[in-house]
Amino acid sequence: MLVGLDQAQLQDLAADLGFERYRGRQLAKWIYGKAASGFHEMRDLPRPFIDALAARYVVSELLTAEHKHSSDSVDKLLVHNGDGQVYECVLLPYEDRVSCCLSSQVGCPMGCTFCATGLGGFDRNLTVSEIVGQYLALQRLSARRISHVVFMGMGEPLLNLRNLLLAMKILHEEVGLSYRHMTVSTVGLVPQINQLAAEKLPIHLALSLHSPLDEIRNRLMPVNHKWPVETVVGAMRDYQRATGRKVTFEYLLIDQVNDTREQASAIARLVKGMPCFVNLIPFNWVDTGQGFARPSKERVQAFRKVLESSGVNVTERVERGHDIAAACGQLAGQHTGRFANRRSLSTVPLRS
Ligand code: SAH
Ligand code: SF4
Repeated sequence: MLVGLDQAQLQDLAADLGFERYRGRQLAKWIYGKAASGFHEMRDLPRPFIDALAARYVVSELLTAEHKHSSDSVDKLLVHNGDGQVYECVLLPYEDRVSCCLSSQVGCPMGCTFCATGLGGFDRNLTVSEIVGQYLALQRLSARRISHVVFMGMGEPLLNLRNLLLAMKILHEEVGLSYRHMTVSTVGLVPQINQLAAEKLPIHLALSLHSPLDEIRNRLMPVNHKWPVETVVGAMRDYQRATGRKVTFEYLLIDQVNDTREQASAIARLVKGMPCFVNLIPFNWVDTGQGFARPSKERVQAFRKVLESSGVNVTERVERGHDIAAACGQLAGQHTGRFANRRSLSTVPLRS
C-alpha cells in the first residue's frame, strides 16, 4: 500500500522498479496532492510504470463501511481495512475553511466515563497509512481543499505518538498543510505532551480539561489519578512556552457535575497568564450509565460569563452533524455494538 510512504520512499520504490527517481515525486503528487484513489487516474505516468505499480501495490486499503451526510453539510465516514475494525472520520466545511476530524486509534483505552469511544474498549493503534488515508478519503468528498485537521475522532492521539508524528509530517510535506492548522486533542498524558513539546513544531495542542478539581476530574477521566490537574496544566504551560502557540482547554459541560460557578472561577485561576482559549462543549448525550445530562443554555451562559469576567478567552463549540451522530465515537459505537464489549479500566496501559 502506498499511502503512508513519503516522497523519498516513493522515489526509492520507483528506482527499485527500474524507473527514474523523479517518477516517485510524480506519484507523491497524485497520491497526496490530488488524492487519487487508483493508478488509473495518474494520467501523466508512463504505462509500464503504472503496470509495474498495479501488479505489486494498491494506493490505499481503506474501505468505506458507511457514509453519512448531515442536513448541515457534514460528512462522516466509517472506514476499515477489511478486518472488521472500524474507525471514523468527519469532514467539516465552514465558510472560511474546510476542516476534518480524524481518528488515531480503533477504540480508546482511556476509559473516560462520558465518552462513547471510551466505553467501547480498545483494539489497536492506527497506522500512518490509516491516519493519512482518512484525510485523503475525506478530500475526495470535498470540492474545496481541506486545510485544517483535528485529531478528535476515536482514540487518544498521544498514545500513538510515533505514527501521529509521521502522519502529520506527510500531511505537512506532501499534502502541504501547515502544522499550525493541525490540532491534537489529548486526555492529558504528561510525558507525551513533553515529548511533543520537544519536537518544537507549531502544532496546536488542546487538553481535555473537563474539571479544574481533582476529585471531579478523577470521576470523569481515570487518567487524572496518574497526572492530576496541576501537573497536566503545568505541562500545557511548558508546551505553550516551547512552541509559542496558544493552547486550548476543552471543557465538556455536564449538568450539575462540572458546570458550577466555583469550577469556572477555579479554571480562571488555573490558566491565569497563559496564552490560551477555553472551548466550551455542551455534553453530547450518550448513555454511559452515569446519568449525565447536558446543561441548560442559561447555565452554559452563566459559566461563560464567570470565565470572561476573569479575562479568559472563551469559545463555544458550534455543533454540527447532530443528525448523523458526529460526536466522538458515536457512529462507530452504533455500527459495531461496541458497548457490549466494555472492558475493565484496570487494563488501561498508562505509561509513565
Ligand atoms: N482522546 C482525545 C481526543 C479524542 S476525544 C481527548 O480525549 O481529548 C475529542 C473530544 O471529544 C474530547 O475533548 C472529549 O472529551 C470530547 N468528548 C468525548 N465524549 C463526548 C461527549 N459525549 N460529548 C461531547 N464531547 C465529548
Ligand atoms: Fe479516549 Fe478521548 Fe474518549 Fe477519553 S474522551 S475515552 S481519551 S477518546
